[in-house]
Order: sequence, then C-alpha cells, then structure tokens
Amino acid sequence: MKIRIIGAGPAGLYFASLMKAADPTHDIVIVERNRRDATWGFGVVFSDRALEFLRAEDEAMYQYLIAHMETWPDLAIVHRGERIGIAGNGFASIGRLELLTLLYRRVEQQGIEIRFETEAPSVESLGPADLVVASDGAFSFVRRDHAARLGTTTDWRSNPFIWYGTTKVFDSLTLSFRQTGDGTFCAHHYRYSPTMSTFLVEVDADTWQRAGFDTLSAEQTMAHCEAVFAEELDGHRLISNHSTWRRFPAIWNDHWSFDNVVLLGDALRTVHFSIGSGTRMAMEDAVALAHALRETPRVAEALVHFQQNRLPIMKKIWDAADVSLRWYEGMGELMHLNPTELAYAYMRRTGRVSHEAIRRMDPRLAAAFEHMHPQTPV
Ligand SMILES: Cc1cc2nc3c(=O)[nH]c(=O)nc-3n(C[C@H](O)[C@H](O)[C@H](O)COP(=O)(O)OP(=O)(O)OC[C@H]3O[C@@H](n4cnc5c(N)ncnc54)[C@H](O)[C@@H]3O)c2cc1C
Repeated sequence: MKIRIIGAGPAGLYFASLMKAADPTHDIVIVERNRRDATWGFGVVFSDRALEFLRAEDEAMYQYLIAHMETWPDLAIVHRGERIGIAGNGFASIGRLELLTLLYRRVEQQGIEIRFETEAPSVESLGPADLVVASDGAFSFVRRDHAARLGTTTDWRSNPFIWYGTTKVFDSLTLSFRQTGDGTFCAHHYRYSPTMSTFLVEVDADTWQRAGFDTLSAEQTMAHCEAVFAEELDGHRLISNHSTWRRFPAIWNDHWSFDNVVLLGDALRTVHFSIGSGTRMAMEDAVALAHALRETPRVAEALVHFQQNRLPIMKKIWDAADVSLRWYEGMGELMHLNPTELAYAYMRRTGRVSHEAIRRMDPRLAAAFEHMHPQTPV
C-alpha cells in the first residue's frame, strides 16, 4: 500500500511504524515541515494508565520508550503553601524532542523515509496514494481546508496558558495554586529529565487582564511568573522556548475522513493537557487505525471501521478533558477551600472518580476529607 503521512508528530510516526511492522512492503513517506531537531514545548507526561495501552499493544516500543522516561508514583497539590500528596496516580514523562527523536530513529530503522523541512501545501501535492494520513497537529491545514465535510467544531477556551521549562527538578507532578492581588495562578510542573522540568502556567482570563499580560514583553511576562512562583522555583529561572500565551482550542470532528484521507492525533481532536493525554491519544489513534487497516485492507471500509470502533472511548476521554479544563476555568472560585478540600475537589473534578475510588487510591486523603465532612456519602 502506498501511504503518505503529513506531520511527523507522535500520531504520524507511530502509525507509520505500526504499518511497516505489519507489512514491510508498504511504501510509506512522512513529510514534516520542521527541522529534525526543532520542536516546541518541553516535556510531556503520561499517566500509568495512559501507558498501559502501549504495553498491551507493543511491548517492544513500551520498553524502548520507558527506558528514557522519568517516573514517579504520585502527584501533589500545593495550596496556601501546603503540599498535599495524592497517592495512587503513577506518572511517566519525557522531553517532547527526546520522544520524537526516539520515534524518528525507530521509524527510519524500519526503512520509512521522513522528509524534514518539507511543507505539504495540499493533499494533492503528495502525489497519488492509497491512503493519506493528516497527522498535521492541532492547526491541521487539511482539517481547515475540508472543515465543512468533516463537520469541525473549534471551541477556543478562555484560560490563557504559557509553557516554560526550568532547571528546578521536581520530585512529582505538582499543581501549585497561588493567589495574588490579580487573581489565581496555577502551575502544572514536573520533571521530564534528570536536569529539567516542564513548568506550565495557567490563569483565568480576568486574572490575565488584571496582571497586564497584554502589555508585558516576553521578558517581563517570564519575570512576573517567576515572582508568583518564587517559592516553587526555589531560586531557579524559567526558560522560554518560543513561549507565548495561548488559549486551548477544543477541537472535534463529526467525520474523521473523506475520500482516502484520514485525520489522526491532534488534527482529529485535541485533549486538554490537564489530563495529560494528548500524546497518548495520538498514539492510540495510530493503533486503532492500523488495526482497522489490518482487518479490512479496503481503505474506504477501514476508515469507516476506524471511526466506529474508536469513537466511544475517544468521546469518553474527550468529555473528561472538557470537564477538567472547565474546572481550571473556575479555579478562582475554589480558592476558599482548604488544601485537603482542594486536593479532593481536584481528584473528583471530572465526575469519574468516586469517593470510594479515592478511598482505595489514597485512604489518607479520603479519611482527612471525611474527618472534615462527616456526612460524605460513600
Ligand atoms: C501546553 C501543552 C501541554 C501539553 N502537555 C501534554 C502532556 O503533558 N502530555 C501529553 O500526552 N500531551 C500533552 N500535550 C499534547 C501533545 O503535545 C499533543 O497532543 C501531541 O503532540 C499530538 O500529536 P500529533 O502527532 O497529533 O501532533 P503534533 O505533535 O502537533 O505533530 C504534528 C506535526 O505536523 C507538522 N505539520 C503541520 N502542518 C504541516 C504541513 N503542512 N506540512 C508538513 N508538516 C506539517 C508539525 O510541524 C508537527 O511536527 C500538550 C500540548 C500543549 C499545547
């Protein structure tokens, strides 16, 4: 089969790898507009559960990646300067560039060509193919050019966020809340290598306005965030990598393909970073599409099966991410909670974790909450 892939992110790379492993005669080319060593952002995080799918599907790939990941067994919430650890949530993280480099290596070893610094201006520019995979990210031009037939909706959420790195090495995934005169700031921070951490700052729209971020330069913005999180950063500086304020586009498509073209990964739908699942979802899409093509080599039919089979689980995670991002949009209203209550509210934010589940995961947190709220229904 002749397969052309637009975008060498986790979705396109992993799909190429799976297809070539299934049949080495496939002719696969990936075009990528960026240089091999260029990427945005710092590290990405996976929950233990998010890596289970990979282990079940592809033990060799799991072992290949996990050897390069940082792991830790729990997460923490910091509020009013108090740190509440929450057990039962294992995580693993890796630098985005390192993840991509590992995938480039694997894919190229399999004999797949990646054409770096090659912009695909249109689907037609790729020449004739049996299948075209548009894994060209959240700002997919393929999706934009065919939005009407794909039934695309894009909901720009209100919270601005900015993705920094730092040399402060954190011991677990931590959410630090800080109340300032301007409003509430939240930092999502975790180490992704022995020497580096991701430090993502999120605020609500009113706080952003009051802090005057619309008038601050990049340096002033960074200095402001460093001042708010001085305690967490502990003398370390924030590091920018083209870091600018963004808002999250919650993207959904009613139809996932047309003709022989299929969307994959962020191009297909975005998942808010607060549930740490964008990369995992992109790789799971790749697994689902490869399965559909293995079972039904006729492309048109396989693309129908891909959507039918993948839709229920994807919708469930997308809905959970949607509830989670709204929780952060309302975080200012939760600041009256004490640290234990906030940690508990965080755990229950998607509505999918019951009190009973918290009892199993972290009996200490459940007991502390029950002590404060003896009427808690179990
Ligand atoms: C702030 C932030 C934090 C995040 N944190 C996490 C996290 O903690 N955990 C997690 O799992 N995920 C996280 N994500 C999400 C994650 O980065 C994405 O979900 C994931 O990279 C999606 O993979 P993808 O392959 O679909 O797209 P991408 O990784 O975006 O790859 C798309 C590729 O297509 C290329 N491309 C685009 N257009 C063209 C063109 N015309 N021609 C050629 N090439 C093109 C791009 O250069 C890019 O390399 C985060 C995202 C953001 C914004």
